[in-house]
Amino acid sequence: MPKFRAPGRVNIIGEHTDYNDGFVLPFAIDKYVEVEINRSSQYVFTSEKMKEQVRLQKYERLGKWTDYLMGVIWALEKLGYKTEPVEVNVSSNLPIGAGLSSSAALEIALAYGLNEVFNLKLDKMKLVEVGVKAEREFVGVRCGVMDQFTAVFGKKDHAIFLDTSTLNYEYVPLELKDFELALVDSNTKHELSSSEYNKRREECEAVLNKLGKGSFRQVTYEDLPKLDDVLRRRARHVLDENKRVSLAVRALKRSEFALLGSLLFESHVSLRDLYEVSCDETDFIVGFLKGELGILGARMVGGGFGGSILVLARKGYLGGVFERLEESYLRNFKKRPSLIRIQSNDGVHMVM
Ligand code: ADP
Ligand code: MG
Repeated sequence: MPKFRAPGRVNIIGEHTDYNDGFVLPFAIDKYVEVEINRSSQYVFTSEKMKEQVRLQKYERLGKWTDYLMGVIWALEKLGYKTEPVEVNVSSNLPIGAGLSSSAALEIALAYGLNEVFNLKLDKMKLVEVGVKAEREFVGVRCGVMDQFTAVFGKKDHAIFLDTSTLNYEYVPLELKDFELALVDSNTKHELSSSEYNKRREECEAVLNKLGKGSFRQVTYEDLPKLDDVLRRRARHVLDENKRVSLAVRALKRSEFALLGSLLFESHVSLRDLYEVSCDETDFIVGFLKGELGILGARMVGGGFGGSILVLARKGYLGGVFERLEESYLRNFKKRPSLIRIQSNDGVHMVM
């Protein structure tokens, strides 16, 4: 039986820009979600990771992991693509909730697989649309487009410079030479994370309302004085961060890794002080890394209030640095971080 495999992703830079019509620079990674699909008389979803098998009715929403799968079936039908009942077996080596976007990988693996099994003839952009629609409208998460886009369009040894307002994109060679990217998971997730995420989205909408503009792309630095303190800082982050994405693309193309690293540090400071989505644990890790030889840059990734730190390091340094970090983090927070090594990889595809 064929299986369909979709990757997780890491976003090098461009945090909290993807729902603000901004720029992002993600790449697909070598950790993935796989689905095996069999036609059946009923819907039966199994996940190794969830240690669960669930039988459900068409479009049944259970408020758990099965919603991501049923959401895809629902979104396909809403867009005019008919499917029939299937059994779906999910397996995965992608950590959940570590900011690697397991949800989009799950959606895209299924959407791609159903496209093959039922010969629906969706193109790549449609697959992205199906995943986003499933997550936004069926699961009920106000996600941007980056995660699903990367799960579909990812390309080994390349990052994707994506304009989320037009969906124009450019593959940027990800040739890190003597350097490497890795993640340190703080193994922390503060309760605040989803409520504050929604609040930031509302604040960004408030910026647009206040300025009478339809898209964040029309917001300029001249607009900042028209905003009150909090909104001004949120907007400032988005404007600066978009600029940093462009600079990071140029740095990557020119192999200017020191510059790329400093952009990561700057991004973190902005997320901490202007966008205010970091927390003690992630600030601690980035602060620690900043003082270490062989570390060029680091920043929190994802929604915030915990999650992972992306690190740009000279090859050969990370192991030792991580050991020292682990000790120090344990002393301060009574728990351990984890080191997640990552490589770039291709987008969704079939595996035998
Ligand atoms: P992430 O940053 O990993 O995307 P989300 O909260 O957006 O975090 O999505 C995680 C959710 O996706 C899980 O709670 C679960 O519902 C679903 N999911 C991810 N991987 C699997 C899997 N292997 N099996 C079943 N459900 C999964
Ligand atoms: Mg997700």
